[in-house]
Amino acid sequence: MESRREKNPMTEEESDGLIAARRIQRLSLHLSPSLTPSPSLPLVQTETCSARSKKLDVNGEALSLYMRGKHIDIQEKIFDFFNSRPDLQTPIEISKDDHRELCMNQLIGLVREAGVRPFRYVADDPEKYFAIMEAVGSVDMSLGIKMGVQYSLWGGSVINLGTKKHRDKYFDGIDNLDYTGCFAMTELHHGSNVQGLQTTATFDPLKDEFVIDTPNDGAIKWWIGNAAVHGKFATVFARLILPTHDSKGVSDMGVHAFIVPIRDMKTHQTLPGVEIQDCGHKVGLNGVDNGALRFRSVRIPRDNLLNRFGDVSRDGTYTSSLPTINKRFGATLGELVGGRVGLAYASVGVLKISATIAIRYSLLRQQFGPPKQPEVSILDYQSQQHKLMPMLASTYAYHFATVYLVEKYSEMKKTHDEQLVADVHALSAGLKSYVTSYTAKALSVCREACGGHGYAAVNRFGSLRNDHDIFQTFEGDNTVLLQQVAADLLKRYKEKFQGGTLTVTWSYLRESMNTYLSQPNPVTARWEGEDHLRDPKFQLDAFRYRTSRLLQNVAARLQKHSKTLGGFGAWNRCLNHLLTLAESHIETVILAKFIEAVKNCPDPSAKAALKLACDLYALDRIWKDIGTYRNVDYVAPNKAKVCFLV
Ligand SMILES: Cc1cc2nc3c(=O)[nH]c(=O)nc-3n(C[C@H](O)[C@H](O)[C@H](O)COP(=O)(O)OP(=O)(O)OC[C@H]3O[C@@H](n4cnc5c(N)ncnc54)[C@H](O)[C@@H]3O)c2cc1C
Repeated sequence: MESRREKNPMTEEESDGLIAARRIQRLSLHLSPSLTPSPSLPLVQTETCSARSKKLDVNGEALSLYMRGKHIDIQEKIFDFFNSRPDLQTPIEISKDDHRELCMNQLIGLVREAGVRPFRYVADDPEKYFAIMEAVGSVDMSLGIKMGVQYSLWGGSVINLGTKKHRDKYFDGIDNLDYTGCFAMTELHHGSNVQGLQTTATFDPLKDEFVIDTPNDGAIKWWIGNAAVHGKFATVFARLILPTHDSKGVSDMGVHAFIVPIRDMKTHQTLPGVEIQDCGHKVGLNGVDNGALRFRSVRIPRDNLLNRFGDVSRDGTYTSSLPTINKRFGATLGELVGGRVGLAYASVGVLKISATIAIRYSLLRQQFGPPKQPEVSILDYQSQQHKLMPMLASTYAYHFATVYLVEKYSEMKKTHDEQLVADVHALSAGLKSYVTSYTAKALSVCREACGGHGYAAVNRFGSLRNDHDIFQTFEGDNTVLLQQVAADLLKRYKEKFQGGTLTVTWSYLRESMNTYLSQPNPVTARWEGEDHLRDPKFQLDAFRYRTSRLLQNVAARLQKHSKTLGGFGAWNRCLNHLLTLAESHIETVILAKFIEAVKNCPDPSAKAALKLACDLYALDRIWKDIGTYRNVDYVAPNKAKVCFLV
């Protein structure tokens, strides 16, 4: 650039004009990458960032194949379909009602025109189902959620909580969208606490029917997707009430699921006894029609009880293979973890999009520079790198962790292995909450990293942030889910001392108390060579040490406080400690899966790139929690400094 300048000296005005033109050119390239730079403008240096250090030549195709694996084809088919149908693409400005209609049409187009039938994969090939969800979510997140409501929640509840008679009767209609439906669990007064639901389903032995009732305003089903406009059915979660011959007169058998028709199949009119209200305009996801449902003595046939875990015979006798209300409740919720798995997976999809937009823009955008030299890429600024590079590494890390989760979930669906069920339950709770919380924050960082242009709606951060935000709450509030992870860890910790077995993801706890909690080795604590810091064993040991320590400490604190405060009070006293423990465990699982993914990558150049990202993920997390490691001298002061610099 300098030598070119010397040959063509410019006036200051010409130079300013050129800079402005270059900026506009770069910006338009970013917004529409198909434009080619004008030959009259000198090329802008955009690679200062990568040119500075050793350049890694990565085989992008091999890396992409390794990451996206066998589902590239179905995802490409979805992208091709929507690219060929501008009428099905969501415009920036659209009213709530138009967005809802468009979203329904997008789903119909996907299923009936493109021939993508997600429901078939919900039970038989969940990996493919989640790949479809990721792709449609990137078209419009409302579409991804609408699809999830129809197939994973409504459809999934029918096939997972029902039996053959339900599958035979409803499968095709759900699959081809004739039977649109809802998943009606949450009530106005009870969201996270599902066991507190108050809607009732009372068996009437004379008519062989259940009567569905909303006993008070607090029991109105609230936030129900597909209810305000499109749903014809709802899976309604209600307390099953049976008549008894004793003095009580009735018996509450706990929460069960029932298929309740809510609109007429032909006229689409609301059915008698059902009242539907619109939940209105939301912060995001306005393509999904959330509504409120109230039931006034709505009668449904006995067959509409989804009876996999509990049944009622013609004479009103209750039968179940599971002995207690709690076990039945646990089994019912256990069948619904698919929604959670899907959200964790889709959240990584959102993170991929936003990190890509922010990093690409940061390479193109130039601001300031050394005197009399071209401006530099904003990604050359250390602060921008610190915002975006650990985020890029985390995106890869979460990708491999959620792929692992989906694999385990698929295996669980096939084998129904009890330990695997417990493992997937805790892992899905942990990854869903950890990843969605991270992505929600990352979206704001990305927006800010793109300056004013990040605020333009066309650049997507606004809609991604608004649509994704609720991922932290639905399918289980993140704070509540992390507590389930902590409770599971404590249970396994206790089992360990009672000689119990540990499942794969948790097996490191077996050695933890002996290995990780032994006094940190003074020699390794001080090793500060780059090789040592990049050694996966050091990294994983550090993560496991932290989790084991948190686990041991919180177990002791709980024991101490429960003597005076009782179980509930002690838990609350230690709540923040428990949440930190759960996050630490999930980070450990994520790192273990990332290290494994690096090891298994067949292409050497892709492997080298992934290894760099993996090191960055590990060292960034150690650095973020350096206080913990320093406190116990697990990492000596100089080593801490090198962690930061590597
Ligand atoms: C857009 C949208 C779509 C939805 N779609 C559906 C649907 O289709 N079907 C359906 O059934 N539901 C749906 N929901 C409801 C959703 O599942 C609930 O909102 C969610 O379960 C949380 O419940 P809540 O809103 O009652 O929050 P609460 O449970 O009242 O939580 C409020 C706050 O209290 C905190 N808190 C609660 N309990 C604890 C605890 N034990 N420890 C510490 N902190 C706690 C939480 O962390 C949270 O910050 C939807 C919600 C929204 C917003």
